[in-house]
Amino acid sequence: MTIYRGTFVDTPADPFAGGELRSEADGAVVVTDGVIVARGPWESVRSAHPEESVVDLREGLVLPGFVDTHVHFPQVRVIGGLGLPLLDWLDRYALPEEARLADTGKADEVAREFLTGLVASGTTSALVFGAHFADAVDVLCRRAADSGLRISTGLVVSDRGLRPELLTTPERGYAESMALAGRWHGVGRLRYAVTPRFALSATGALMDSCAQVLREVPGALFTSHVNENPAEIEQVARLTGAASYTDAYDRHGLIGPASVLAHNVHPTDAELAVLAARGACVAHCPTSNAALGSGLFPMRRHVEADVRISLGCDVGAGTGFSLVKEGLQAYFGQRLQPDGLLLTPAHLLYLATSAGAHALGLQAQVGDLSVGKRFDAVWLRPLPGDPLAVGLSHAADPGEALAKVFTLGTPADIAAVWVDGDLVRSTDLP
Ligand SMILES: [Zn+2]
Repeated sequence: MTIYRGTFVDTPADPFAGGELRSEADGAVVVTDGVIVARGPWESVRSAHPEESVVDLREGLVLPGFVDTHVHFPQVRVIGGLGLPLLDWLDRYALPEEARLADTGKADEVAREFLTGLVASGTTSALVFGAHFADAVDVLCRRAADSGLRISTGLVVSDRGLRPELLTTPERGYAESMALAGRWHGVGRLRYAVTPRFALSATGALMDSCAQVLREVPGALFTSHVNENPAEIEQVARLTGAASYTDAYDRHGLIGPASVLAHNVHPTDAELAVLAARGACVAHCPTSNAALGSGLFPMRRHVEADVRISLGCDVGAGTGFSLVKEGLQAYFGQRLQPDGLLLTPAHLLYLATSAGAHALGLQAQVGDLSVGKRFDAVWLRPLPGDPLAVGLSHAADPGEALAKVFTLGTPADIAAVWVDGDLVRSTDLP
């Protein structure tokens, strides 16, 4: 049993539905076997547990671990390819690099870089676009299992429109996906995610094979891209003949409560209604949308249509692994639209934590720091003299402190990260 003492800030209640930020200044949480078993003011927790060891986190803030619902494993090294729209960026930067992961040795190096990037940014759970090569996904899963992070991932499949070495067939995609799921789904904190790259690169037969994997692997997730860029949307309409981009997945039975679709910058009202009816989640990736010029995310329309939203960093089109940065960019994106939502710090924290936990079906385990949840947590402790340290020391209340975190925070401010109560990263824990 360990007692963590500090200022805890989380969002157990959805701010989009009226929930408020919860905070506990000089509070304590008690963790046994990775589970939070008690929480309250320091004095009362200490008097109930006078003998237990204490980890002093009073400088800075303790937040729930971040949950990234859209990020690409093979794209670590192409972050920063600025200046192109989606389809050109894929051809110029992303797909040539993805092809290089045919080399399993390189895939192993990239997997380590990738997982380091996640944990260094305070991300404890992630839905990860794998690679087009089964051996590369296998290597990622092995490294992910070692890392302790909660990773859901799978083989990315495509059978048209990409460079030939990235293509598969419905039969091979099914066989390799089932083999990977058999090896890794449910092992430690890993889960399988069925992952056609996007409707543009997947025939109906491949979509059907994806649906078969989804049916045959209980608890698997489904993830892909939707409505990111107008040129892409136009090509999907032409190639699939579906009623909409969303329908290109939905008509194969791929959209449901375990589905996470990235972007949705340009949805129709009919698509939003389908996503809401299916209980699917949209991963909003604001730095990627800005970097590729994809557009501003219509968050108000999603919220008014009752479509669930979470955050993704979308590395490598996104500009880094930090969900703090994504939160700030989400805020900017709404400020820049006449009908944008005014996002509070509570909204930003919710999107970066609890909303992602819901998206990945992990809400009973993680997303906030309530009693009964697993202790997945981030200790944000900027160095003395850093503008964030100055800001935190002068914040009037936890909401203001959190606003400063989202405005000024970087991975350099993350001093420690726990998953299930296990320390997975620490710079200098007291
Ligand atoms: Zn993506």
